[in-house]
Amino acid sequence: MKLKIIGSGSKANSYILISNTNEMLVLEAGVSLNELLKNINHDVSNISCVLVSHEHSDHAGYLKQYDDRCLTIAASKGTLEYYNCHKTIIMNPLQSYKFGNFIVVPFPVQHDAAEPYGFLIYHKECGKLLFATDTYYIKYKFNELNNIMIECNYDENILNENILSGKIHSAHKDRLLQSHMSYQNCLKTILSNDLTLVNNIILIHLSDSNSDTYAFKRGIELGTGKNVYVANRMDEIEINCLPF
Ligand SMILES: [Zn+2]
Repeated sequence: MKLKIIGSGSKANSYILISNTNEMLVLEAGVSLNELLKNINHDVSNISCVLVSHEHSDHAGYLKQYDDRCLTIAASKGTLEYYNCHKTIIMNPLQSYKFGNFIVVPFPVQHDAAEPYGFLIYHKECGKLLFATDTYYIKYKFNELNNIMIECNYDENILNENILSGKIHSAHKDRLLQSHMSYQNCLKTILSNDLTLVNNIILIHLSDSNSDTYAFKRGIELGTGKNVYVANRMDEIEINCLPF
């Protein structure tokens, strides 16, 4: 399974899982349809579904364009209510959904949005993949994960320094604490799960001004002993069931 990152962060989020048979699951609709098409050779026929975590524009801003192209869109009722789309599947929390050969279980996360979800995704090539973005906390524990994509938004110390220096307004901190995952919570959250079978950890949705890419990668590597990647635009990462 290949993970293609088209965008990650506060401006535009878009990820594509691409199987060996070219079946695709698109995560988020934060880039234009054109941008998505450019990355899949303009062929939408292999897209099983577009999963959307929540309604904020950096994750769902182009949903209408995707809907106009007749892509199947799946999200919570709360998320879909913000967009007048036609080909949608309302996902209930903790129920299982099948899109082609992908099985998806949405779970509620903690963010300042209507009904935000994280997703547990299964495909025989990548095994169990956890996808969690825009959440300051995850109340669930997951068994037998093989790969993890998780938000690692800001470092508490960098944020405090930025507030002291006047670079960031203190009101921004209040919002971050209730909506996004710090590096410190990210490490705790990862470690609260059984990591025995985990091959890769991909850190996503880093803040532009309150993060440290190198320190995050190194810290999570040292804390978990796993392969750690920081999601960069246009990266492609192999995420398989087995570690080779
Ligand atoms: Zn958001």
